[in-house]
Amino acid sequence: MPSLNTFVTVTKYVRLHRLWPGKNRLCLFGKVMTGPMADLWVNISVYFLLIGLYTAFYVQVVPELWSSRPVACLVSVMLFLVTFFSLLLTQFVEPGIIPRKAVFLSTMQHVPFPFNLGDLSLEEFSRETGEGAAEWENMRQQFVFCSTCLIYRPPRASHCRDCDNCVQVFDHHCPFVGNCIGQRNYKYFLSFVVTLTALLVQVVYCFSVFTATLNQKDETERSESESAWTYGMMLVISVIGVIVTALCGFHLCLLLTGKTTRERLKNTSYQHSLDTPRVDRC
Ligand SMILES: [Zn+2]
Ligand SMILES: [Zn+2]
Repeated sequence: MPSLNTFVTVTKYVRLHRLWPGKNRLCLFGKVMTGPMADLWVNISVYFLLIGLYTAFYVQVVPELWSSRPVACLVSVMLFLVTFFSLLLTQFVEPGIIPRKAVFLSTMQHVPFPFNLGDLSLEEFSRETGEGAAEWENMRQQFVFCSTCLIYRPPRASHCRDCDNCVQVFDHHCPFVGNCIGQRNYKYFLSFVVTLTALLVQVVYCFSVFTATLNQKDETERSESESAWTYGMMLVISVIGVIVTALCGFHLCLLLTGKTTRERLKNTSYQHSLDTPRVDRC
């Protein structure tokens, strides 16, 4: 496979997705980007758990509850669909990867980014743009050089070791959704976590109603295996529910404080200034 360096010299053009550096996988001829191959099995387990547990719940509980609680059943179906599509979007929306210097050079897009690519010093850039040295010094302090991507990455961006790329407003790398969580897919990740929490609460509620109806049956009608299955499912879903609810609360707190997970864990915060470009999370 030709490298990105040869890309600029060969006369025959090669599509960028075939040469994309880093560990991200590009699918559908480069139209969809997701995380590295290393996340595959953990990621498949999440789909298996989500679809498997909900299908088991749907088959066992919904037919029993449909006559007495149709709205609760419909809400659970709706929440499942929103959760599932939020997961798909989180995984397959490009999280905000900043192309490496080689990509900028290969695609002839380096001209608008002379400072980020090290083509202009801070002083030269300050002179060309007419900005004061103090403002650019303030900006420079928040730019960090990435020795892998060979770019000066903007504030709040970070190099993801799993994907091997710099990501804008890097939150964290999530192997469960199989992608980085960054500027462009954070809203889908938040939607996934919030709707999954709501789904788990709804399912536990439906289970509790189902168990109550089960207890009203005669001993002869109620089989031991039916009771054991119901309580087992409730236990598994409750344990997952506690973990997911804690995660949901953590991300809602982050949203209120305007911090990313990385900033929270490192106990740092991004200081906006009038002359520093603001980067919104969503
Ligand atoms: Zn990097
Ligand atoms: Zn990543």
